[in-house]
Amino acid sequence: MRLTRFTDLALRVLMRLAVEEADLPTTREVAAAMQVPYTHTAKVVARLQHLGLVEARRGRGGGLTLTAAGRAASVGGVVRELEGAGDVVECEGATPCPLRSACLLRGALRRAQEAFFAALDPLTVDDLVAPPTGPLLLGIGTGPGSSTT
Ligand code: SF4
Repeated sequence: MRLTRFTDLALRVLMRLAVEEADLPTTREVAAAMQVPYTHTAKVVARLQHLGLVEARRGRGGGLTLTAAGRAASVGGVVRELEGAGDVVECEGATPCPLRSACLLRGALRRAQEAFFAALDPLTVDDLVAPPTGPLLLGIGTGPGSSTT
C-alpha cells in the first residue's frame, strides 16, 4: 500500500515536532527542514491542528508544538484518519469492474489494507523519534539558511 504524499508529510511534521521541545518551529521552518513546499506543509499543519495533534502557540517564543494527544498518537490511527477507508483499488467508478459483486480479490485486499494499518497501530509518534531518527531530526537545520522548495 502506498501512502499519499499528504499522509507522509503529516507523519514527518509530527516527527519533527516530537523532537523539538525548546525552540518551537514555525510552519515555514518545518517546511524548510523537511524540504517540502510551505503551502503543502501549511495544509498538513492545519489538518493536524483540526485533529488535535498539533497546536500553534502565539507570541514571543511561539510556534508549533505537539499536543499530549499528538505525542501519544497511534501511527496507525493517524494513517487511518488521513488515508480514509477507501479501497486500495477502484472497483466502482466511471467504468465499474464487472467482478465487483463477487470478487474474492477485493476482500483479500481489504484485509491486507487493515493488516497494514494494524502493523502501525502499536507505534506512537514518540516511538518514531527514538535514536537514530530523533537525533537526525534535531540535526536538520530550521534556520534561515535552510532550503525551501
Ligand atoms: S478485480 Fe476485484 S478488486 Fe479488482 S477492480 Fe475488480 S472487483 Fe475490484
